[in-house]
Amino acid sequence: MSLRIGIDLGGTKIEGVLLDSQHTILKRLRVDTPQTDYALTLQRIVDLVGQLQSGLPDRATVGIGTPGAVSLLNQRMKNSNSTCLNHRPLQTDLEKLLGYEIRLANDADCFALSEAVDGAAAKAGSVFGVIIGTGVGGGVVINQQLLKGPNRIAGEWGHNRMPGIGREFADESRSCYCGRINCIETYLSGPGFSETYRGLSGVQLPAKDIVSKIAEDHHAAQALTIYQHQLAYALSQVINILDPDVVVLGGGLSNIDVLYSEVPKLWSSYIFSDSIDTRLCKAMHGDSSGVRGAAWLWP
Ligand SMILES: [Zn+2]
Repeated sequence: MSLRIGIDLGGTKIEGVLLDSQHTILKRLRVDTPQTDYALTLQRIVDLVGQLQSGLPDRATVGIGTPGAVSLLNQRMKNSNSTCLNHRPLQTDLEKLLGYEIRLANDADCFALSEAVDGAAAKAGSVFGVIIGTGVGGGVVINQQLLKGPNRIAGEWGHNRMPGIGREFADESRSCYCGRINCIETYLSGPGFSETYRGLSGVQLPAKDIVSKIAEDHHAAQALTIYQHQLAYALSQVINILDPDVVVLGGGLSNIDVLYSEVPKLWSSYIFSDSIDTRLCKAMHGDSSGVRGAAWLWP
């Protein structure tokens, strides 16, 4: 029986699971991420793999999901918000310590893969997996395989420019940490949604508090309406290019249930088709998608 280890290297926790061939999690472990200490981060991952591997007759495969991506210029990490990883050859360093080959992918890619293999988009031919949380990321899975382009950025729509700015939805310029302005992430992330609400109400609140006030606060309802239009418009551009069977949403804002009924009504006016069969659905594995997807990096 083939066993897989999946590791999700997050900003605050490193989580690991041991998965069997029936997709059952046999073991799950979590440790704190030593946020600024790269050497200790490596050691914690190696220790976690050792504990998951302990007592198994054969070595399990190891896949790791991380923030950011591997630069093909030098095999070092880039674009990671856990900044101690940037410019480090994470995969090579872990392989040296473990003594065997591992696979490593962006955490949004792992999310998309998990949902495509046995989650909300199981059996779908093409899946666009989207994380709308602290940031906005995405991944593309075709026939249960991650799409890996020459730049390793497939699905990174969060840093495309939000369509409709200055016309339908907003007239402001938002700076993004990536150096561009009006990135989709600056509108559709949790902080982006909070900023839209602050622009309407003058009050700064976290996204989940705004959502809980929809019934009694007309600014909250207005911010959510704008958010739905922005999400529909932004996704329509992906659908026009990729024409996926399923779009799966994960991350904190994916818990807004009304998105799944309202956004497909709105996106029809932006998508170049008389009928739209693309499904919009919520992630099935929730917070476990990262570790599950990392385990599925091996066939
Ligand atoms: Zn950006």
